[in-house]
Amino acid sequence: MMLCCRLKLQHIRPTLLVSRIYQPTSLRDVGQESRQGEMTCKSQRLMQQAGLIHPSNPGCYYYLPATVRSMEKLVRVIDQEMHGIGGQKLDMPSLCSADLWKTSERWDLMGKELLRLKDRHGVDYCLGPTHEEAVTTLVAHQAHLSYKQLPLLLYQITRKFRDEPKPRFGLLRGREFYMKDMYSFDVSEEAAYQTYESVCQAYTRLFARLGLRCVQVQADTGNIGGKLSHEFQLPADIGEDRLLVCGDCSFSANVETMSSDRTDCPQCKTGTLVESRGIEVGHTFYLGKKYSQVFNATFSNAQNKPSVAEMGCYGLGVTRILAAAIEVMSTEEGIRWPGLLAPYQVCVLPPKKGSKMDEVAVLADNLVHTLGEALPGLRGEVVLDDRTQMTIGKRLKDASRLGYPYVIVVGQGALEETPRFEVICQQTGETMFLGQDGLLDLLGRVETV
Ligand code: ATP
Ligand code: MG
Repeated sequence: MMLCCRLKLQHIRPTLLVSRIYQPTSLRDVGQESRQGEMTCKSQRLMQQAGLIHPSNPGCYYYLPATVRSMEKLVRVIDQEMHGIGGQKLDMPSLCSADLWKTSERWDLMGKELLRLKDRHGVDYCLGPTHEEAVTTLVAHQAHLSYKQLPLLLYQITRKFRDEPKPRFGLLRGREFYMKDMYSFDVSEEAAYQTYESVCQAYTRLFARLGLRCVQVQADTGNIGGKLSHEFQLPADIGEDRLLVCGDCSFSANVETMSSDRTDCPQCKTGTLVESRGIEVGHTFYLGKKYSQVFNATFSNAQNKPSVAEMGCYGLGVTRILAAAIEVMSTEEGIRWPGLLAPYQVCVLPPKKGSKMDEVAVLADNLVHTLGEALPGLRGEVVLDDRTQMTIGKRLKDASRLGYPYVIVVGQGALEETPRFEVICQQTGETMFLGQDGLLDLLGRVETV
């Protein structure tokens, strides 16, 4: 009986069929302005056309299934990097009490950007745009926090709410978006700087793993407060930030932090500063005691005396990273993903129905299963474009717009004595003809998360 069930389960492992994936593609051009009158950009246009996102109200989007797959992958990569530096994941309420925000004085400082609401008792709340207050009060409530437990790095990946004056560019600037926010608690300023440095290194590793060129620039500390701050910027023409980058050394800064007509590098003195635009995908702040003092977040030090913790906070725009990656990697016609984040890695194309190659269709189906069996890393990553009423050419065009890293055309060559498949690597634009072994070898090297 047991054996029978198991066999049955294996038998019904479903093939992922393109016709069944909820990805409502719309070929209609989105144009310069969206329906809501917001500015659009390449990534927004491509994402809407590819059925990745759908607009609801200004600055708010449906994240459709392929986007959720991609985001879940991004979250896994972020989790790996945060765990790597000792981060612990938690989840804080989005509904934040006004009292906390009044304590830090940000209830007034934040102005209209804070989305405010009242509960049935008339008590004021806001929808969390960031969580310094919430996390600091949490840590302050811990009665016996010892210096031996520090550094403490707490982070979450949750929806944030900001009533942006100009939501635009799709997921790049929303009013509701996902952010990874981490908060650190340290025994001393020196230790806090070390933690700050290790978070910056983790961010650099993260962007390298995604294959994104990212520059770390000196930044303004804004209304978050604190003494030291860096932004992680992806150079892109539509970026809203202006950066000054030295041609000779590693110096780079947000224009906000210095006079914008300065052209000589303050670090190496010899290099020339060149202005470029960037999309801010991450931001780190050394906060000192700004919040820990107000909320009384203390630990007991080596002398068993209460001491106020030194803090840092570190944001990553999760949904913004997705859109920004698409913005900088894609062509005007088609999405190109960081390999790790593609919703599906492989798309298999059987021939058009009735094209005297119906037996080939069976081979395509077999190939999908073979790949799944032989390459555990690709389980759930291979889709079969079963829309065989369409020509191969039309489906190839769709595959190019959606940006599967690997497209395999199963055609005449599959019927040869040693079957051969046409493989298109969309990241590089290369086309190859490979036998099954070559294919397994190539796809076996695909990194998934
Ligand atoms: P910006 O200057 O772009 O408005 P910020 O400096 O206000 O951003 P932070 O408070 O530093 O943003 O938030 C941390 C990260 O969250 C940012 O680096 C960015 O990647 C992301 N982020 C901020 N605002 C938005 C938004 N409206 N939509 C999407 N992501 C956002
Ligand atoms: Mg910022």
